[in-house]
Amino acid sequence: MNDPAAKRGVKKAVPMEIETATSWNANPDVVVVGAGSAGIAAARRLLASGLMVTVLEARNRIGGRTVTRRFKGHPVDLGAHWLHAGPINPLVKLGRLRSEPLRRAPVNGHFYVRGRLGTRTERAALDRAFDMADRAMAQAAKARDDQPAARVLPPMGPQGRRVAAIHGLVSGRPLDEVSLHDFPSMEYSDNLFIAGGLGAYVGRLAHNFPVRLGTAVQGIDWSGEGVRIDTSAGTLQARAVIVTAPMAVLQRGAIRFAPALPHAVAEAIDGFTQGVYEHVILHWPDSPFRGADRLASLTGTHRQPPGLLTRIDGTPFHFFELDQPAASSFDRRDVHAPYRYAREVLAEQFGHRAIRNLSAVHGTAWRHDPWSLASWAVVPPGLYAIRDVLKAPVGERIWFAGEALSRAQWGTAGGAWEEGERAAGQIIARLR
Ligand SMILES: Cc1cc2nc3c(=O)[nH]c(=O)nc-3n(C[C@H](O)[C@H](O)[C@H](O)COP(=O)(O)OP(=O)(O)OC[C@H]3O[C@@H](n4cnc5c(N)ncnc54)[C@H](O)[C@@H]3O)c2cc1C
Repeated sequence: MNDPAAKRGVKKAVPMEIETATSWNANPDVVVVGAGSAGIAAARRLLASGLMVTVLEARNRIGGRTVTRRFKGHPVDLGAHWLHAGPINPLVKLGRLRSEPLRRAPVNGHFYVRGRLGTRTERAALDRAFDMADRAMAQAAKARDDQPAARVLPPMGPQGRRVAAIHGLVSGRPLDEVSLHDFPSMEYSDNLFIAGGLGAYVGRLAHNFPVRLGTAVQGIDWSGEGVRIDTSAGTLQARAVIVTAPMAVLQRGAIRFAPALPHAVAEAIDGFTQGVYEHVILHWPDSPFRGADRLASLTGTHRQPPGLLTRIDGTPFHFFELDQPAASSFDRRDVHAPYRYAREVLAEQFGHRAIRNLSAVHGTAWRHDPWSLASWAVVPPGLYAIRDVLKAPVGERIWFAGEALSRAQWGTAGGAWEEGERAAGQIIARLR
């Protein structure tokens, strides 16, 4: 019993598929740093255009912040799970073309007040509070000067706390740390899911790719012609590079640039803050929630979870979501603390009998994973422009891509995909 996961009482996840590193081309046209959604999208587009591509991935698997694992035989996403903004999400469009098993996310969620079903009036009050908040933010965002999104929220009665908590959860930071100009640009309606998990789907899109796993890029030298890429496994030479490493990883200086990046670019990278959103994955066959894939609002108690996704794909698995304040509060506590917290919150709502057969199968900690260090990148008040600064190539040789650059789909796998394709399209135009 030397397995640390077993010692912690957390069941070990079984990988969906084993990825094997392929040999690499040390002199490709383009190097893509990172095999998450942005990197896979970029590589697909570049390969389709006939360019030679090498994808370098630090982890021993592909997918980045999308990854599906099996628990008790069921696929469960540890990172991205929702396909947000269906009408503009490129992963949805591609999924339809490939006849992937997409399904619409239900619009109506569960609504509970201290363990009883909320009344129609109570539900309507929550909906009204959301409308008021959305209108106030959209209106105030038209003003020239940026400010914290929280500052413009109107008084919303008893539901105000819940509205702010949910917006804070989907932002990755409390709203007083989020740019008002940036926040409403995100599209969140018309959501879908995919059977088998989003991580597995993204993995299928990289089938037979020239990906070199377990290879961390440590330096990019753009002092001469093209780029020289120094990695943990050797050096490559290419005409251009697309960097999709998360902003928080770049902020840590994981990749040295020589010469240093232009001041405006370095400042843009440093401007982002770390969005935090973590799942405690619960196995709860007797949960009171019926139907599949419905969000639950649990109100009326001292502690209220900002997010709970119930009966994922009709299975006994549920996501108990942790927002930034909750996740950070567990940082100096033992690994079981998030699970105990989830139990306390659910017992407070439904009573101890209801959680008798509740167990946690996994708790994510993306904020501590050295190759992500955050769930996504957040724009603080006043820094609205930084996403766009990074869209311009550096020296016509270095392109940045990834979720942080997307305007309408920031913080999402669809946004990352969109940005990977954009960078690849620009490189194709440039190299031809
Ligand atoms: C818990 C959680 C839930 C989420 N829920 C959703 C959701 O429901 N829907 C949604 O759309 N999005 C969601 N997201 C966000 C989504 O996962 C990300 O926005 C998206 O996957 C980011 O893709 P990316 O390609 O920009 O970055 P990543 O997926 O992080 O890919 C970057 C890759 O670069 C690699 N890398 C980093 N540094 C180096 C280096 N030096 N050398 C080589 N490789 C390197 C990393 O290992 C990684 O594979 C969630 C995220 C989390 C954490």
